Amino acid sequence: MQQIYFFNEGRRDMRALLGGKGANLAEMTHLGLPVPQGFTISTVACHDYEKNQNQLSDELRAEIAQALTRLEALTDKKFDSMQTPLLVSVRSGAAISMPGMMDTILNLGLNDQTVLGLAEQTHNERFAWDCYRRLLQMFGNVVYGMPEQTFESVLTSYKRRNGYHNDLDLTAGDLKAIAARFQDLYLESGHGTFPQSPQEQLELAVAAVFTSWQNPRAQVYRELHHIDNTIGTAVNVQAMVFGNSGADSGTGVAFTRDPVTGEKKIFGEFLQNAQGEDVVSGVRTPQGLPAMEKMAPQAYQQFLIAVAKLEKHYRDMQDVEFTLEHGKLYFLQTRNGKRTAKAAVKIAVDQVNEGLIERNAALLRIDPEQVSNLLHPEFAAATLAAHTPLTKGLPASPGAASGKIYFTASSAKAAHEAGEQVILVRQDTSPEDIEGMVVSEAIVTSRGGMTSHAAVVARGMGKCGVVGCENLVVDQEKQQVTINGKVFPAGSELSVDGASGQLYQGHLEATQATQDQNLQILLSWAQEAGQLDVYANADTPNDFVQALNFGAKGIGLTRTEHMFFKTDRLLKMRRLIIAGTALDRVEPLAELQELQTEDFYQLYRLAQGKTVTIRLLDPPLHEFLPHDAKEMARVAAALDMPVAALAKRVAVLHEANPMLGHRGCRLAVTYPDIYEMQVTAIIHAALRLKKEGVPVKPHIMLPLIDTLPELQWLKARLVAKINDLLAAAHTPLHYQIGIMIEMPRACLIADQLAQAADFFSFGTNDLTQLTFGYSRDDIGSFLPTYLDQGILKADPFKTLDVEGVGKLMKMAVDKGRYERRSLPIGVCGELGGDPASIRYFAEIGIDYVSVSPFRVPSAILASAQSALQRNYQASKVAVQAH
Ligand code: ADP
Ligand code: MG
Ligand code: MG
Repeated sequence: MQQIYFFNEGRRDMRALLGGKGANLAEMTHLGLPVPQGFTISTVACHDYEKNQNQLSDELRAEIAQALTRLEALTDKKFDSMQTPLLVSVRSGAAISMPGMMDTILNLGLNDQTVLGLAEQTHNERFAWDCYRRLLQMFGNVVYGMPEQTFESVLTSYKRRNGYHNDLDLTAGDLKAIAARFQDLYLESGHGTFPQSPQEQLELAVAAVFTSWQNPRAQVYRELHHIDNTIGTAVNVQAMVFGNSGADSGTGVAFTRDPVTGEKKIFGEFLQNAQGEDVVSGVRTPQGLPAMEKMAPQAYQQFLIAVAKLEKHYRDMQDVEFTLEHGKLYFLQTRNGKRTAKAAVKIAVDQVNEGLIERNAALLRIDPEQVSNLLHPEFAAATLAAHTPLTKGLPASPGAASGKIYFTASSAKAAHEAGEQVILVRQDTSPEDIEGMVVSEAIVTSRGGMTSHAAVVARGMGKCGVVGCENLVVDQEKQQVTINGKVFPAGSELSVDGASGQLYQGHLEATQATQDQNLQILLSWAQEAGQLDVYANADTPNDFVQALNFGAKGIGLTRTEHMFFKTDRLLKMRRLIIAGTALDRVEPLAELQELQTEDFYQLYRLAQGKTVTIRLLDPPLHEFLPHDAKEMARVAAALDMPVAALAKRVAVLHEANPMLGHRGCRLAVTYPDIYEMQVTAIIHAALRLKKEGVPVKPHIMLPLIDTLPELQWLKARLVAKINDLLAAAHTPLHYQIGIMIEMPRACLIADQLAQAADFFSFGTNDLTQLTFGYSRDDIGSFLPTYLDQGILKADPFKTLDVEGVGKLMKMAVDKGRYERRSLPIGVCGELGGDPASIRYFAEIGIDYVSVSPFRVPSAILASAQSALQRNYQASKVAVQAH
């Protein structure tokens, strides 16, 4: 079977076989661009090599020898020739680009003889010895694993001894001596003499590239980027061109647009009299492209035309490598350039406007996860590269922040009021901490998973958050935290990277994201293409405004318990929970009703007729109760009751398992007056707006429903209450009462529930928690091991468990719609913002998702992508059927 392809035999769609580099070298050859001759040894050969105990097979060796003969004919040069020595580069390249992960050898074919030939032919002794010392360096490193430093330190001491500033000061004599020294290093490190036969050099180099596919560095990179281990790498063997042949030569890289801002302007770096690696490795500071224009104006014009052609051909921003040899231009690589989120969006929108790509292509090109980075501050890659992280937790909420650490809400608040930027560090958080969270730049916890209280609240607030930092021990007593053994007292400065979950010591500068106009345009296209509507989880007018700016259709979930997090309200809420009798509840309920009416009025007013779904109270009670003696005393004083009496009530309310306890609609069945108060507030707010001429659409949602009688019992009471209110006001009003589907049992009897519910909304957090039986607040202690060991593919609170939880959801959708075809069904919860989950939601017929405001743009884009991909699949099936 053919294992080798010359560049003129391949095309860009042969990536799997030729690797990205090889396929694109072939494509550029096909386009008629000046590409040095060469061939690609395919990924199939890489597989064979692995199967063959890391040995090149005889067949492959024969095919390589044949290809070499053909390359010699094409270039009119010869391996091992003194008159016309053929030199080649040996370059790895997998189907998916893994920049810098695999290795390259340049100038292969030189030996103690041909180096003399090269010097004579080019009348440039310095150049020839420079090539040879580079080959010895790269070959030693790639093939024998000799550390780069071994060679670099020889160069450095040579330069120092002679008072040279950079590599260009080295003379032919110096380089010759250095090459000799390098050859000694081979002997000293036990690798024998440097192989003089070019054929042998080539075989060793090809084998080394294949082996490097398995090196730990490459494996880690693949794991990090979810690249399949089995795809293998190809090897490109290409005739050398020399950017280091003198002052009329050079080498460079260029992007067809600015990779940071996306601006339509060629951006590049160039080094005169240098060979490839010099530009990226930073041994010399590169100049800009104007230096190239000055050096070789004609070649520069040709270069501009060629890169424009490349971008047009690939219909995307290109990242190219090129070399000038005595003023003649060669292209050595092209690929779609990596870019920031900001640049990605700008380039996509610009290219649509330029007529280069379709809107759909623009929508498919942007990573929805990346979009949310656009909306938060972030640390620049260079900043991060210059610092070593202290530890890493789960990246719960994106953003980047620096500040002084505090361990209680009150000390955080005090520091904030004193004008400090603060970071709240806790073992975990509860509503007690909200005020501390509000004033913090970032929230860090040592426990908890992606849907822990801290994580959910941080995301909801659009605040940077890192949770579950296992190597972080909070000592509340001493007011200090130990991170990997290092102690940080309160007031120490830390920096938190919500995008990666990493913590850094000291202050790191973050860049502020601003409202991005191109993103708005892209999102408007996405909304046209998307199938799922996107709503927001919003508890405050601020959140809602933010969400509307990002394109939300309305509110899919208002968690009314979150409205009680402010100190004065928390107290009223506590008074309500502590109350022993219905009578004791009257006063706090009346107070809360007034506050809630105002809250709902504000939301409805902002909504201007858009749907606002209000979920009635759903707090696990323990979240609102004092935990220790100190707090107990404080709350008792505030509630004006004896500590003993409070302690007694708390003991009565204590639950062994509050997550499975007296919460949600269960609370309303035992205390119906709580939900009656809330619907009264909703109706009052709605009537007030109606009077003002503002349209309102109240959607009332009951949490934690398990059975039809439970739903009927509650609904009867709420409807009676609402009818009374409407009758008294002599005003008709359309409203809906729907339910959260978050109990596995509710999924199983969804057809029954659909008889009484106006809509369904999946609560995927609780549904996942109960389906797996994983407490979402405790998952941090075992999830990392489950992921490491591959027992779980992903955190099921981050991306839907399609196989289990997804099956329950599908069953509920099917059963619900069997009962009532037009039943509206949504998903609220963090999974609603996850692209992979969204794809599945669209597939099973979900109508909308509701996500935290900062995830609205990602969800809109992901929804569009899932629709476009489905259409594409469908059209493929249709074509095949013909
Ligand atoms: P990477 O994937 O790390 O960029 P490459 O295989 O592209 O590695 O090669 C490293 C450097 O060597 C690049 O700057 C490239 O342009 C240069 N290079 C590769 N092959 C040749 C060649 N045949 N002639 C001149 N320079 C080359
Ligand atoms: Mg390259
Ligand atoms: Mg819930």
